[in-house]
Amino acid sequence: MGGVAEVVVATTVLESKEWYLAAYVPENVPTSDHLKLRTTKVSLEHNLIPDQHVVLQTLLISVDPYLRSMMTGRVGDLYLPPLQLDKVITGFGLGKVVKSKNSNLKEGDIVVNPYCPVAEYCVVPLDFLQKIDPTPNIPLPNYMSSLGVPGFTAWVAIELIWNPKPESNVFISAAAGGVGMFAGQLAKLKGCRVVGSTGSDEKVQLLKEEFGYDDAFNYWKESDFDVALAKYFPNGIDYYLDNVGGKMLESVLNNVNKGAHIAISGMMSQYNTIPSEREGVNNLMNMIGKEVKMEGFLCGTYLNRYGEFAQQMEVYLKEEKIIAKHKINEGIESFLESFVSLFSSSNLGKVIVQVAK
Ligand code: NAP
Repeated sequence: MGGVAEVVVATTVLESKEWYLAAYVPENVPTSDHLKLRTTKVSLEHNLIPDQHVVLQTLLISVDPYLRSMMTGRVGDLYLPPLQLDKVITGFGLGKVVKSKNSNLKEGDIVVNPYCPVAEYCVVPLDFLQKIDPTPNIPLPNYMSSLGVPGFTAWVAIELIWNPKPESNVFISAAAGGVGMFAGQLAKLKGCRVVGSTGSDEKVQLLKEEFGYDDAFNYWKESDFDVALAKYFPNGIDYYLDNVGGKMLESVLNNVNKGAHIAISGMMSQYNTIPSEREGVNNLMNMIGKEVKMEGFLCGTYLNRYGEFAQQMEVYLKEEKIIAKHKINEGIESFLESFVSLFSSSNLGKVIVQVAK
C-alpha cells in the first residue's frame, strides 16, 4: 500500500528548479553569490490549483538586459521596480500547459508568458498569457526574439519613433544582438544606409553577409570612435539607435547631421556601474546647433501597437525578409551564465535559455 501512495504523490507533485535573487548587485556583473538556484515543488493536484490558473512547463526564457536594472536594489535606474530578495525572478518566456483550470486553455497548448518565473514549472493566472499556434515557418525561439521583446523594441524605434526616409544614414550599436539585428534589417527594408558596431570580427561579417548591413565595425579594434564614425559615415549620421551609451553616444554626437534623431534604447556599457561613476556625455551642446532630437523609450509604452507589429513581422519572417539568430543555452541551470554573457561580446543574436523541449 505504501508503494501505491508514493506513486500517486510522485505524479501529482513536480520538482521545479527556479532562480532567485539572494543579494542585490549595486555594481559589476552578478555572480552566484547574487543569483541562486533552488528546488521547489509544484502540485498538479486539481484542488490545489486556483481557478482560472494553469500549470505551465517552461520551454524558453528570454534573457534580457532590463533585469540588470532591477537587481541593483536602487529604485530609479530604468524606473522598473527592484526585484524582491528570495523571490523567484520573472522574465519573458514561453510555456506549455500541463494542467488547466480554464476552458480556453488545454493541456499541450503553448503560451507566451510576459511574467514567466525563471523556473521549470509554475502556476500562473491566465491574465497575461497569450496562446500561440506554432507553425513550421516560425520556430518557437522567434517568439522570444523577432516576435518578442527585441523585435518589438527594434520595430518601435524604426517604425514608430523614426520612420526614416530612404537613403537616410542609420547607425546601430550592439548591432548583432537581439534588438540590433532586427533594427538593422528593418532599417534596410526602409531603404536606409545602415552601419552597425559590434564586438567581434565574426559578428561584423555576419552583419554584412546575413543581416544586410551596408557596413559594420568591431568597436574593440577602434581606438577612437570619433575617427571610426567619421570613416563609416562620410555623409554624417541621421539616425542612431543607442543600445550601449557611454563614449559611443558621445562620438555619435560629434558625427551627426542637422536634425538627427537619436533613440535611446539602452546603455549596455553603463548598467554595471553605480550612477555617480557612469560616463557622462560631454558634448550635449552639439544638440543645439545641429538641432538633434534625443529620445529615450520603453517598448512597453507601445504595447497597443503589438498586434500590428506581429502581423508585419510574421510576413517578413515567412518571406525571409527578416532572419533571426539565436544563442540557445540548454537547461535552467544556464540562466546565470546566459545573463552574464549579455555583458560581454561572446554571444551572437538573441540569448535564450531552453528549459525544456
Ligand atoms: P543583446 O544586444 O542581445 O546583448 C547585449 C549586447 O551588448 C552584447 O551582446 C554585446 O554585444 C553588447 N555589449 C555588452 N557590453 C557592452 C559594453 N560594455 N559596451 C558596448 N556593448 C556592450 O541584448 P538585447 O536584449 O538585444 O538588448 C540590447 C539593448 O536594448 C540593451 O541596452 C537593452 O537594455 C535595450 N532594450 C531596450 C528596450 C526598451 O524598451 N527600451 C527593450 C529591450 C532591450 P557586442 O559587444 O558584441 O556588440
